[in-house]
Amino acid sequence: MIRLILWDIDGTLLRTDGLGRRATRLALEQVYGTSGAVMTHHFGGKPDLRTLREILLPEGIPDQTILDLLPDYMQSMREIMSALAPEHTVRALPNGVELARGLHDSTTMIQGIVTGNVQTIVPVKLGLAGYQMHWFSVGAYGNESENRADLPVNAIERAQTLHQCTLAPHEVLIVGDTVMDVHAARANQLPVCIVRTGYESAEALEASHPDFIIDDLTTFEVVLRHFS
Ligand SMILES: [Mg+2]
Repeated sequence: MIRLILWDIDGTLLRTDGLGRRATRLALEQVYGTSGAVMTHHFGGKPDLRTLREILLPEGIPDQTILDLLPDYMQSMREIMSALAPEHTVRALPNGVELARGLHDSTTMIQGIVTGNVQTIVPVKLGLAGYQMHWFSVGAYGNESENRADLPVNAIERAQTLHQCTLAPHEVLIVGDTVMDVHAARANQLPVCIVRTGYESAEALEASHPDFIIDDLTTFEVVLRHFS
């Protein structure tokens, strides 16, 4: 029996020490000519497409322009993030690298990424934190939809095609750090594990009623025992 684990990135697998927001500001200015209210923007697990709309529409940038320049923005984000990386400490969260490496060796587990990040920066962030891209066989990214609940669907479809299997909802586990991760899981009837290493209040996370809630990934084995 195959199981699929879909990892969120920021606050779940790693933290970027301000690199994400800084690169976003510079790429917005480079590509769209303004970064609006990015410095106070609440990312909160939102897909980057939604973040772009929330920041740029109030600045008078039309939606069609946001979409037309999205490929440029994605390229700019990758270049800027790579260039600024030496000035920041991108750190894997405790036990994350060890877990992902171990699960990659498993014959029954597939790992994928479901993140609000645009696709181009995913290898940059994961690589800086010590994760290897080939551990994650599929992904769904923040440039694909502004609705986070669409992303697990894309990742599951890609996993089923790649591995030639059929995955029932209870065979897929979402792991994230925000209420939005819980909502995206619920919208697709998927179990969800929340890790308290991210950017959201403990009260809000409790109130969203995830199936599992753990302080950090050092106790993820307990979740896996329920899931396997
Ligand atoms: Mg997150």
